Amino acid sequence: MSRSLIISVATLETTSIPAYSGKQVRSATESQIEHPKIITAFMYIPKKSYFLLNLEIRNRLGDLAAVSNVLAQSGIEILSGSFTRGAVGNPGRWQVFVQPLNANFTSEELKRLVVSCPDVVGCQIKESREGLLVDSVTFPIKISSGQRAMIIRNDVWEGMLQKTREKFGSGGDVIIYEQGNMAGRMSGRELLAALGRDFLTKQLDQVIAMYQALGWGRAKILNFVQSPMTLSIRMWESAECMGQKSEKATGHFIRGHIVGHVEEIFGVECKCVETSCLAKGDPYCEFVLEEKKRGLSK
Ligand SMILES: [Zn+2]
Repeated sequence: MSRSLIISVATLETTSIPAYSGKQVRSATESQIEHPKIITAFMYIPKKSYFLLNLEIRNRLGDLAAVSNVLAQSGIEILSGSFTRGAVGNPGRWQVFVQPLNANFTSEELKRLVVSCPDVVGCQIKESREGLLVDSVTFPIKISSGQRAMIIRNDVWEGMLQKTREKFGSGGDVIIYEQGNMAGRMSGRELLAALGRDFLTKQLDQVIAMYQALGWGRAKILNFVQSPMTLSIRMWESAECMGQKSEKATGHFIRGHIVGHVEEIFGVECKCVETSCLAKGDPYCEFVLEEKKRGLSK
């Protein structure tokens, strides 16, 4: 299964609208449990003409419904998109791939139609060429917390990690751990500054759920004691360990990330062991974190 991962981090498949990707080989069980979030960077629909619209939409209850209604009434089908309501005073954005049922619909006609809708205050449009339409309209990609992110296929990232291990042996594991730790510290610091320690402690299950939200793996807290700090996290389908085969656990980036996160948020020094790992043939990865000593900076 090809999965992708945003580094910093979120997820995108190379085009995977099921009807158009042509590479959906999944078992019934798998498709039942998956609820993938699709970020459409490009599409390929052979021999079809279709469009990408980047619309600025006036902030009003029902605005999106009004614009989609205008499209529907003209026989224009919505294929894939992303809508974000604007902050106070700013327009929202709807970036959407659409396909007219009438193949002769031109780009100019579509633009005229869309801007005729009073809720649309801005419109950019790109048309497919020989069935291929790459989103060169929107940039950059951002996660909802505001940071810029990039999309990298999960198998590419796995390959990078594997190469690091091949080249540097156990030193490679240390490099990967330190990279994860640095990333965990960054996001731990940001969360602490934005939400505060008490709030984060109460919401720790949601903090850990961010691993799922960002495509790293489905993670759940098994056990949490604040003092002395003990935290066990089980992660299914870890982006780091899926596809790896090893006698030892291989989740060094995520292990380092958890440690960095916890140390920044709680101000304690921790160590973390990956006690189960997909790479060893276990059904999930499991991380057990324990406090070393109290009294870091915060
Ligand atoms: Zn693992």
